[in-house]
Amino acid sequence: MLAKITSGTVVGIQGVPVIVEVDLARGLPAFATVGLPEAAVREAKDRVRSAIRNAGYEFPAKRITVNLAPADLKKAGTAFDLPIALGILAASGLFDGQRTQGWLVVGELSLDGSVLPSAGVLPLALAARNAGLNGLILPAANGREAAVVEGLTVIGVEHLGQAVDFFAGQTKLAPITPEPFAGRPEQAGADYAEVRGQEHAKRALEIAAAGGHNLLMLGPPGAGKTMLARRLPTILPPLTFDEAIETTAVHSIAGLLGPDSGLVQQRPFRAPHHTISDAGLVGGGNPPRPGEVSLAHNGVLFLDELPEFRRHVLEVLRQPLEDGRVSVARAALTVEFPARFMLVAAMNPCPCGHLGDPRHGCRCTPAQIQRYRARLSGPLLDRIDLHVEVGAVDIADLASRPPGEPFGLYGPRPGAGGAGHTGRTVRTPAPPLLQRSDDAAGPRPVLFPASQRPAPARTGRGPLWPVGPRGAPHRQTRPHHRRPCRPRGDW
Ligand SMILES: [Zn+2]
Repeated sequence: MLAKITSGTVVGIQGVPVIVEVDLARGLPAFATVGLPEAAVREAKDRVRSAIRNAGYEFPAKRITVNLAPADLKKAGTAFDLPIALGILAASGLFDGQRTQGWLVVGELSLDGSVLPSAGVLPLALAARNAGLNGLILPAANGREAAVVEGLTVIGVEHLGQAVDFFAGQTKLAPITPEPFAGRPEQAGADYAEVRGQEHAKRALEIAAAGGHNLLMLGPPGAGKTMLARRLPTILPPLTFDEAIETTAVHSIAGLLGPDSGLVQQRPFRAPHHTISDAGLVGGGNPPRPGEVSLAHNGVLFLDELPEFRRHVLEVLRQPLEDGRVSVARAALTVEFPARFMLVAAMNPCPCGHLGDPRHGCRCTPAQIQRYRARLSGPLLDRIDLHVEVGAVDIADLASRPPGEPFGLYGPRPGAGGAGHTGRTVRTPAPPLLQRSDDAAGPRPVLFPASQRPAPARTGRGPLWPVGPRGAPHRQTRPHHRRPCRPRGDW
């Protein structure tokens, strides 16, 4: 007896339909799985055997062969448990195997027969629709995630018995209705209007948000760099439906969607620690899994203490910053993950953090400062369009200020009309210099194109980041009161 049930696996971010063929033959009882199954798929036979018995069905004492076609594609994950179990029961004559035609079945089985949630359900739902299937049988906890795909009947099951009764025609299960897509831009707990002071940094954040520019914040510890970065997603335009699908698919593959979660409706904010590996940042492993740059797709990747990241880890950022995607090559296959994100980085101006701070003395030697800044390569800095100083704010100054300005102080909300965040549309040959000028209304930035950049003033403090064209800092003898240097080379 032979039964065929359609299931699927995920390659990169794409779902691929897989036909699960189950053959029951006479002979000594055995269970063989063929078709390049990974360890978790090979172990399915033990889960399936227990689940079938504990659900109250008889496990056939026959020679069982399970083939996963196409046979040259590696199959990973636990989502084949449910189709294999249904295939065995259909092949043993419990219900008509023809009734499973037109359905894609995924789900992990517990030993008691209950169906556990699986990762990567949304890409499988898209694959089912593209393959012309009518519906999807999946774990009930994954139902809302898959229901957003239009033109597909999505039915959630909680137990193996429910799926058997459904295909046997003994019970009717209601399809899951998709929740409306709202595209909420607000993030709970972080409000841009709460920020007091830091007007020039907020201005830079808004320029970055409007144009999709990468941003580097430079300032002493406690100046509010992380606090500002966390509020950046709240002023980005709402996710479009297509962006939400892509973002949800990446989170689904990574297994980061909680039970009963639908579409990701907020722009992601990812802030990996500086000890992260390059595989953790851009993706890796076998089978390849998305990294932090892909989890930040359509959102913000925040790298705090940028010079503390290992240099080769930062250098792998260059491909996703340019192309908006990452290729992870393995011997058997190369997969691509989307990685179109805004990079927001923060760093101290020197190892002790107080260079240029009028209230603290800097204890660093020029050589220490030079070594610290030289950890960032020129090509990486060249991809960060906006460099902004974030100075320390006085406690008294904070208390006397009004409680934050609502967004809109500098013009319409990005995306609310007119030009919105459409990716990184403006490429400048050299990072623009965001220079502070002290006026009565407080420090405000002046953005100079490279061609119109004025000569630095001969008195007063110069910019804290007087780097050369390749990112190497100028030699300086007195970090506090050095004379500002005229940029060299092709600036
Ligand atoms: Zn210092």
